[in-house]
Amino acid sequence: MGRSTTPAVAASGSWTDPDGVRMPAGEVHAWTHGTNQTVCGLALSRASLLRFPHVPWTEVQPATGADADRVQRVCPRCQAAAGGRPRRGWTRHDPRP
Ligand SMILES: [Zn+2]
Repeated sequence: MGRSTTPAVAASGSWTDPDGVRMPAGEVHAWTHGTNQTVCGLALSRASLLRFPHVPWTEVQPATGADADRVQRVCPRCQAAAGGRPRRGWTRHDPRP
């Protein structure tokens, strides 16, 4: 149970892509919906991290992700815990208005 859930992203900064979608920038951590902390245990509010529930963790991996343009650092602890490999059959999220 819960094993099939891809974590979302929490980041130290944000930018808006040409489609008007808020995207993570700076340092990124894995974050699971419904929690107030990152996978590595940082409290989101205390660490001033922004949540990106619409951005899957796999998309901010610099090597493989489509949304990693402004990502400067990937938390190694979150990467170890959440993994950085794209899933088979995963497609980019649909930017919605
Ligand atoms: Zn982390």
